[in-house]
Amino acid sequence: MEKFNVVEIFPSIEGEGSLIGYPVTFIRLEGCNLRCEWCDTPYSYDGKTFSKLTSDEIISELKRYPNRKVCLTGGEPLICENVDKLMTEIIKEGYSLIIETNGTVLTEEVKNVLREFGESIYIVVSPKPDSFYFINKELIPSVDEFKFIVDETLRIKDILMYQIYYTEKPLILQPESNRKDMIDKALKLQRELLEKHSIEARVIPQVHKYMGIM
Ligand code: SF4
Repeated sequence: MEKFNVVEIFPSIEGEGSLIGYPVTFIRLEGCNLRCEWCDTPYSYDGKTFSKLTSDEIISELKRYPNRKVCLTGGEPLICENVDKLMTEIIKEGYSLIIETNGTVLTEEVKNVLREFGESIYIVVSPKPDSFYFINKELIPSVDEFKFIVDETLRIKDILMYQIYYTEKPLILQPESNRKDMIDKALKLQRELLEKHSIEARVIPQVHKYMGIM
């Protein structure tokens, strides 16, 4: 049976984006194909902070909590070998699945799961404009939310790259680490997007950090 490199599994609330406040159980998978400067989970790709668990062991851990939503995060969960099988198992257990991804990788196997179970999967893509970066084009139709981290390097042209999708998919601006200067920058970008491009973005900080929870 396949084993997955799992950094941690923990219950919390969704602290970011449109689903903020929902009770969610997070599964953090090991490994990432990017190295963002402001990454707040470098332990997720240090190559040593994980346990090898089967999908059965992961599901029994999920069952310890009453949460109906499960979030696969990382690192970058979509680079994990056999993640399609894990996604399928979780959905078959009746959970709604959230995927937090940098959006760069989409395998044929994951595509098949999205085709079959798309209704039960909510995909949040967090573009990383500071890296050599493009969202995988084939993933875009399945994306439910674009969430840009507002840091020193984010430019309005990075956000506008995907502007044709913002009429139907939420656009979130998330100030990096809830820093005051980045909150100010996010509000400025929000105003500019609206005034010059008629794009309505939402500025949402990381609520779990304000609450002092993980
Ligand atoms: S993509 Fe996410 S996990 Fe990977 S380095 Fe960037 S912020 Fe960290």
